[in-house]
Amino acid sequence: MTPDYQTLLLAIGLSGFCLSATLFASWMSARVERFLLSWSLGIGCIVPAVTAYSIYFENPDYRIGSLAFMLQFLGFAFIYGAAYRFRTGRRGRGRMVVVFATSSALTLPWLAAGYDGIGFIALNLLIAAWLVATASEYWRGRQEAPLPLKGIVILYLLTAASFLLCAGVLIHEGRWVMGHAPDNWAENLNLVMAIIGITGIGAMSLALNQWRVAGNHQRAALTDALTGLLNRRALFERHGGEPVEGHRAAIAFDLDSFKSVNDRYGHAAGDAVLKVFADVLRDACGAAASVARLGGEEFIVVLDRTLPDRAQRVAERVRADFAAKLIPIGGRSITCTVSAGIAFGNDQCANFDSLLSNADKALYMSKRNGRNRVSPAA
Ligand code: GH3
Ligand code: MG
Ligand code: MG
Repeated sequence: MTPDYQTLLLAIGLSGFCLSATLFASWMSARVERFLLSWSLGIGCIVPAVTAYSIYFENPDYRIGSLAFMLQFLGFAFIYGAAYRFRTGRRGRGRMVVVFATSSALTLPWLAAGYDGIGFIALNLLIAAWLVATASEYWRGRQEAPLPLKGIVILYLLTAASFLLCAGVLIHEGRWVMGHAPDNWAENLNLVMAIIGITGIGAMSLALNQWRVAGNHQRAALTDALTGLLNRRALFERHGGEPVEGHRAAIAFDLDSFKSVNDRYGHAAGDAVLKVFADVLRDACGAAASVARLGGEEFIVVLDRTLPDRAQRVAERVRADFAAKLIPIGGRSITCTVSAGIAFGNDQCANFDSLLSNADKALYMSKRNGRNRVSPAA
């Protein structure tokens, strides 16, 4: 073994170990991003794989070679599994088993039969294929965080290319039987590329994790936990700053006699009614509307670029749909109604606060006139 090659192997082992530990620690701190765990397991396999391979380099026994092959396949199966899990959120255990089993089945018999060159060619081709499959998973999920994900894709593809080169050199030289580990310029390049790939992908995976954690916090801060609608903060962030133009409508909703639902059937039943009402709102208002729970049993829908009769139709549809809903509560079904008030942005109503307060006044009219109705602002 030349010292250069040994140094490179040692560098891979060390960088693999450090990254595996770092990713494992960052998974431990949040325990949500399980793809990090799979990735750290995959990179973790590199340490024993490199150890087994350097023993094989000195002592080319096919059993040691087989061990080194299997450890590598295990590592790449986890690395592919991490990508699959990142994109889909699913475990992908079956896929990882397929990666490991087919790779072993297509290479180990060659080693045992003495055709170690063919075994190494197959190893390099298979790893290149799994790396391309890994890159394609990240590519398909790239819109979540385009910059780090494109970087990750490029690094996986470059690493795959370096494995292809190793196979290409052996094929070109017709090295079907070698009796020792391959030792050529492509192998050295492959090791350098592996070090770059491991450290670069590791750093970008951490960045990706931060990106996700920050996005989850941001979403949680703007979402009502019970209904999944926007919360008050999100509503004001979206509309609070802008001046109101003539074509914006706000519809205020307040469930009728909701206190008696709680009193009669319990707080959990009240929560179930709130969720049903949120679903009715989502169905009736469309994706362009801002649908928010202000608190308690009070909701606001803001419609931009909307004429008065459309707002009236939306409010009326919500009212009618909700009144017709049979809500299952503890073995029976109950019904509930809602009152609404509609206000439009206009010259007298210069900001979002007064738009909401006008909608609230109209809502009060609905309550006074007997509930389960829609009133436009005066
Ligand atoms: P009105 O028709 O005049 O609106 O009568 P109401 O009973 O709906 O109005 P009121 O404001 O007196 O009662 C609102 C009730 O909503 C009181 C409170 O216990 C209940 N409430 C507020 N937030 C929640 C919640 O998150 N879950 C449940 N289950 N109840 C809630
Ligand atoms: Mg109320
Ligand atoms: Mg109420």
